[in-house]
Amino acid sequence: MYKKFIRLRAFEDQPSYPNSKPKVCVTCGIKASQEALFDVGEGIILIEKYCDTCVKNTSN
Ligand SMILES: [Zn+2]
Repeated sequence: MYKKFIRLRAFEDQPSYPNSKPKVCVTCGIKASQEALFDVGEGIILIEKYCDTCVKNTSN
C-alpha cells in the first residue's frame, strides 16, 4: 500500500469528550503524545498515534 510519511505533530488528548477512549500508541498501547501523518494516496491522510519512544522508529 502506498504510504508516504509527511510529518509529526504533537498530540494532546482532548479531555472534553468523556466517553471517548483514551488515545494510545498504536505500537505499545501507552498514552499517545505524538501523531504521525501519512499520505496514503487519493488525497487521504492517515494519522497514527505514537508515544515519544515509538515515534522515533517512525519518522526516520
Ligand atoms: Zn509506544
